[in-house]
Amino acid sequence: MIRLRPEHLDAIRQHGEADYPHECCGLLIGRIDAQCAKTVVLTAPISNAREEEAKRNRFLIKPEELLAGERLARQKQLDIVGFYHSHPDHPAIASQFDLDHAWPMYSYVIVSVNQGRACNVLSWELKDDRSCFSFEKILEGE
Ligand SMILES: [Zn+2]
Repeated sequence: MIRLRPEHLDAIRQHGEADYPHECCGLLIGRIDAQCAKTVVLTAPISNAREEEAKRNRFLIKPEELLAGERLARQKQLDIVGFYHSHPDHPAIASQFDLDHAWPMYSYVIVSVNQGRACNVLSWELKDDRSCFSFEKILEGE
């Protein structure tokens, strides 16, 4: 389960719309409790590191951006709990590419952006054996 405040969901949707028709991506920074439930405290947008032509359906986070995100999280005594990205004109379902590049423990929040308008937001978690993603419940609230 991942808890996101309405302003986080708005920020993710707005980032997805702003970067359309490219994919946007960003970090989810917050806390993980003993039951592995995540609470997002802040979202940190980052640029899309891929070459121009691949931006539409691939996202990649630069190592220095990940490090900067980890530093930011540590300053606030928080952790990176996951990542978000957009799927322009595709459903908010994790792709094979997402699966191949995912790490266990993190949440992968995907926003579907259809014709420039953000709609569905879903969250995914890698199964322990890394064979596939499972749906993760998003709890919207404080
Ligand atoms: Zn994706």
